[in-house]
Amino acid sequence: MSERVINFGAGPSALPESVLNEAAAALLNFNGTGIGIAEISHRSKEFSAFLVETEGLIRTQLDIPSTHSILFTQGGGSAQFSAVVLNLLARYRLLHPDQDDAVMDYVLTGSFSKKAVEEAQRLGGARVNVAADARAQSEDGKSFNNVPSQYSFSPDPALIYYCENETVNGVQFSDDVSSPTSFPFHLLPQNALVPLVGDYSSSFMSRPITRLTDHAVIFAGAQKNIGPAGVTILIVRKDCLVDVDAAAKLGAAPVPCTMSYKTLADSGSMYNTPSVLAIYISGLVLRRSAQLGGVQYYQETNTKKAAKVYAAVAEGEARGVFRGKVKEGHRSLMNIVFDVVGDEAKFVSGAEAAGIKGIKGHRSVGGIRISLYNAVTEEQTDTLVAYMKSFT
Ligand code: PMP
Repeated sequence: MSERVINFGAGPSALPESVLNEAAAALLNFNGTGIGIAEISHRSKEFSAFLVETEGLIRTQLDIPSTHSILFTQGGGSAQFSAVVLNLLARYRLLHPDQDDAVMDYVLTGSFSKKAVEEAQRLGGARVNVAADARAQSEDGKSFNNVPSQYSFSPDPALIYYCENETVNGVQFSDDVSSPTSFPFHLLPQNALVPLVGDYSSSFMSRPITRLTDHAVIFAGAQKNIGPAGVTILIVRKDCLVDVDAAAKLGAAPVPCTMSYKTLADSGSMYNTPSVLAIYISGLVLRRSAQLGGVQYYQETNTKKAAKVYAAVAEGEARGVFRGKVKEGHRSLMNIVFDVVGDEAKFVSGAEAAGIKGIKGHRSVGGIRISLYNAVTEEQTDTLVAYMKSFT
């Protein structure tokens, strides 16, 4: 389909064309049922089997042990800003029925962890401790341009929260645990069931998850690497599937049924109607990814793509046309942010004329943002790089 352009959008974002064609056919007839995927019952045996397959594709590719459940829900990453607080405060209440001084530790590295902090403060129920604020650790004291090096975690927090890849700011933790920019697992309380929460919305399935089994909850909205908006994938350690009603009797805040991890798990993610179409397209993407070699394959290609674009930014810096925004070693493989020195509108319109779209930075920070999710090919990245090199 020649009228399709190259889409570097940050989310919703590019999906593989082969998957879109398959989904288009399934809109008319899903799996030989004679019923379209947007029309079929979520409880039909065909869709139930598809959901089980999709879960299996995630479990296998990320090597998720049986200690953790995989759940599908709605409400996006933002609903999880609330759900993790509610479920993990309920868990804390059950573990410490008499304690009224719960604390939640947050690592603040950009716009999305900031939103999560604000939601935790809104919900109340426990004190929020900002265990690290990347702004305070930047050279100018106000930029989300780095992975922090200093942390102050609480001894027994109800949750410890971080955002693995900050989509707006282009900051990502390293996946090498010996790197100073990796998440500081070694500084966490030394307890086997640490309530560690990772927002993986914009890096899920782009590479293996570092120390996955050390997490209590990992969540990701689908609309970056996996599928359309409308489904959120959760990986929840089973000790976090708690009876929220029993916790409420002890004084914890009540939890809406649709947000209770245990309710979701007990119902096989079918407490209510799941996002059938979004799950279907995500499942097709995951099938394709398994055929290509899974997260190891994507780690390799995503690393190559990002290296090419960062090299083009550096080359533009040397020519005085671009300015990078994030410290080296702290930069995202998924979202590459930089400024155009001079005429940004000319850079964007020139790109559009070359069939390259979705490159404007988030409205809160401006500049340029190139999102290199899994469906963006090396060839498309090369087209962008050639354009960047030609820009004067
Ligand atoms: N976390 C991150 C890292 C994100 O990139 C986003 C969305 N761009 C969200 C959370 C919020 O997700 P949603 O818009 O699906 O609520």
